Amino acid sequence: MPRTATPQTLSREITLSGHGLHGNRPCTVRLVPATSTTGLVFVHTPTGTEIPAKADLAGDLVLSTTLVKDGVRLQTIEHLLSALTGLEVEHLRIEVDAEELPILDGSAAPWVEAILQAGVVSLPGRRRFMKVTQPMEVRNGDRWIRVLPFDGLRLRYVIDFPIPALGRQSRELTLTPDKYRRELGAARTFCLAQEVDMMRARGLALGGSLDNAVVFGADGPLNESLRFEDEAVRHKMLDLVGDLALLGAPLLGLVEAHMAGHALHVGLAQAILANPGCWEWTEETQTSNVRFFFQASQLETAAQPA
Ligand SMILES: [Zn+2]
Repeated sequence: MPRTATPQTLSREITLSGHGLHGNRPCTVRLVPATSTTGLVFVHTPTGTEIPAKADLAGDLVLSTTLVKDGVRLQTIEHLLSALTGLEVEHLRIEVDAEELPILDGSAAPWVEAILQAGVVSLPGRRRFMKVTQPMEVRNGDRWIRVLPFDGLRLRYVIDFPIPALGRQSRELTLTPDKYRRELGAARTFCLAQEVDMMRARGLALGGSLDNAVVFGADGPLNESLRFEDEAVRHKMLDLVGDLALLGAPLLGLVEAHMAGHALHVGLAQAILANPGCWEWTEETQTSNVRFFFQASQLETAAQPA
């Protein structure tokens, strides 16, 4: 699936149900194709509140990403937004009947499968990218995230946990829908076993289990197996892709993150939006310019190490 130069939505509706990770309440999500370039817009159906997926509406960012508008909160939106952004579906109405989206298997894979089954269609017009022209950085102590100019969306992520089962993991890739599906989408959310009691005491992760999260103990994961040896850093990249959806448009830049999380991911999106002198709109990417001459996969192999 090459990168597309046209705005995209789904070919047909998708409905998925499950329980929220933190509140453990049931939720049904209906993805309704857009008829114009609306962006990604959530609709909380009990109140009819429309909440665009925009960084200026971000609320609580502890362990998940939340949007807040008119007193309505929508929590744990990042995995669905990640699947949509990773597969370049950027215009959609997302109807939800509760305040937290279903965690499903803890990854974006169920969304990816449903989206690929439904298929995507182009909307009229050209896809507009936010092309970074000047570096920007957001820091919190020794945790940081920054973006640099790059022709494409390249992600470089490092995590470094002081327990041997996790340790230091790093990964880097230039995002395409195919790479998203193969390398990031199936990576599950994770936590440390020692954090579980603390999270529950704060009313978080009440719906968490080994069916929807990887839990790392002192000697390794408590789950039977991992999907990738470095599943944790891949999930951080999945989260980053989802949080960058709050820019409201696809990004062209190299994003480097060190031990970041939702607050820094969204902080970077807010910094980009607040500094319009550091980026410009473009309808062209290097990939879309040259794909008339090369297959996207050949180009990827030839031009990029990851
Ligand atoms: Zn996540």
